[in-house]
Amino acid sequence: MLLTVADAVIAAEPYLSEADRNLGDGDHGIGMARGFRAVKEKIQAADPAEGLGKLFSQAGMAMITSMGGASGAIFGTVFRDGGKAIATAAAFDAPALATLLQAALDGVVARGKAKPGDKTMVDALHPAAHKAAEVAALPLSEALLAVALAAEAGRDASKDMIATLGRAKTLGAASLGHPDAGACSIALILRTMSDFAQSAAA
Ligand SMILES: [Mg+2]
Repeated sequence: MLLTVADAVIAAEPYLSEADRNLGDGDHGIGMARGFRAVKEKIQAADPAEGLGKLFSQAGMAMITSMGGASGAIFGTVFRDGGKAIATAAAFDAPALATLLQAALDGVVARGKAKPGDKTMVDALHPAAHKAAEVAALPLSEALLAVALAAEAGRDASKDMIATLGRAKTLGAASLGHPDAGACSIALILRTMSDFAQSAAA
């Protein structure tokens, strides 16, 4: 699943950079693609016996050390803190997804101080984490679909927000009309995880 996510993010480099260009410096796709190339190398070299949490944490550390900048720290935190929280999980199921996303959100908020409505990736991650807690009793594929839809709704809602933090905070009302690029990345990652789980469940 993580390798499929990495390929999807790498392929989405132009889309993510365009999203950043609308509100920021246009480097988001480049950074994300670089980070997920590092994730691929790390995962392909990883020992599966080390477990699920270690895999996610190693992916996060690969992003932090390869991407640089605010996105590297923030997106690396999603995977590193999320992975640490499911270190003892035997399987990646819906409860593990909920635990991972809540820890990821807590880590990102602690690090970046963003709250919902600031027009950052939190506007996709926050609704995703809350939806994951609601649907933790469902099979993983159904939970992931609900979570991906929540993240996409959050991404779309960020279009109508005036940035008060993050890449577009100096633009004020000029930030209206475009979604936050980080929210686009979160939605893409969760949609790809959902698509993977749907095909695995079919
Ligand atoms: Mg940027």
